[in-house]
Amino acid sequence: TEAHLAAMEARAGLNAYITPTAERALAMAKTSDARIHAGQAGTMEGIPIAMKDLFCTNGVRTTAGSTILGTFVPPYESTVSAKLWDAGAVLLGKANQDEFAMGSSNETSAFGNAVNPWTRAGDPDTTLVPGGSSGGSAAAVAGRIAMAATGTDTGGSIRQPASFCGIVGLKPTYGRCSRWGIVAFASSLDQAGPMARTVTDTAIMMGAMAGHDPQDSTSAPVAVPDFAAAVEQGVKGLKVGIPKEYRPEQGLSPEIDAIWAQGMAMLRDAGAETVDISLPHTKYALPTYYIIAPAEASSNLARYDGVRYGLRVLEEGDSLNDMYCKTRAAGFGAEVKRRILIGTYALSAGYYDAYYLKAQKVRTLIAQDFKAAFDGGVDVILTPTTPSAAFPIGAEIDDPVTMYLNDVFTVPTSLAGLPGLSVPVALTSEGLPQGLQLIGRPFDEETVLRAGRALE
Ligand code: GLN
Repeated sequence: TEAHLAAMEARAGLNAYITPTAERALAMAKTSDARIHAGQAGTMEGIPIAMKDLFCTNGVRTTAGSTILGTFVPPYESTVSAKLWDAGAVLLGKANQDEFAMGSSNETSAFGNAVNPWTRAGDPDTTLVPGGSSGGSAAAVAGRIAMAATGTDTGGSIRQPASFCGIVGLKPTYGRCSRWGIVAFASSLDQAGPMARTVTDTAIMMGAMAGHDPQDSTSAPVAVPDFAAAVEQGVKGLKVGIPKEYRPEQGLSPEIDAIWAQGMAMLRDAGAETVDISLPHTKYALPTYYIIAPAEASSNLARYDGVRYGLRVLEEGDSLNDMYCKTRAAGFGAEVKRRILIGTYALSAGYYDAYYLKAQKVRTLIAQDFKAAFDGGVDVILTPTTPSAAFPIGAEIDDPVTMYLNDVFTVPTSLAGLPGLSVPVALTSEGLPQGLQLIGRPFDEETVLRAGRALE
């Protein structure tokens, strides 16, 4: 823990942490020492981690990357973070992120963007985005200023930054981890998950985070398997589906396609079989996601009214409505306001059926595509995680549609609620890490992790 705290200061330029918690870290590490000496070590005892700033931490400021929560100190702990402390993990600090987890580059954070520790070969001066929204978590793990980190993933926010920073990230099945105490973005999609340097570390951390929680009615009452043991089982006999809708004919660059082929070869060499499959509704996933996620966000973010949490802007003589308007105008950034507008529109009377309801129907078709593939005998599906490697800071932030395209390979999994793992597989010609994604059946993170191990 001391070594990590020193490294955090030395690498402050990564801006990976919004709120470092050095004192708390040292106290927790002391407790871990005592537990280890007493023979009571948990599965993550003494492991220093970063916690995405979307998880409420009792007594530690939790901003969600937003000005509106800039002074919010929760009086309670999220279930997932509480489970990690029970397992012995140590909190190094709250990690930077896109505001309310809306973004793919960490540039919508009200606290400045986190920086990717990687740079292009021969071009050390161009700073690159770490991806988002869990960009601070990914930068911290890749920059060796956390051994692992929590992330949350609504449409790709664990997997895309993991790919951009050359680490492993797992979005579990929807319902695998409790959402209680996690600042809500899009409630039917949000999931917490681990980000770490290896598949085994990811599996160990997954075990500590997962489990049914009566405080979240969408958390699933299913047993938590031994994920770390599953990792060692190998992939002999596994059937790996390769969806044709992700191929170059659909716009994938030849370079990423070649890395994808490399992943297929690695799995075959390890004893798996690859088979072509079709997920015909893939092309509708992105527009579907960008109706559903803003719709749910517009509803969830209605609670930031200047009364209950964080920021309040109120001047002499202001009405209640003035306070709402001034607080939300000052407290939310441009991307959050864009989503609230889109979402409110999509949910409004007269438009609900045409947009939100239609999107929910398409979502079902996308989920059925995956179900048909798995019912057809495929155990796991392999795709690229992202259509490109990390891009320079500033390159896409003024073009929301280009930014949204980062999620093209990750949102179908999110809409279907399935587990998705990103594993770094190769470097691009620019010398940047590129991840591949493994998608599994509901609650079958074990097979996904097993296959992930073969890609390391
Ligand atoms: N980049 C996507 C978005 O902006 C996904 C974000 C996420 O998964 N939290 O919505």
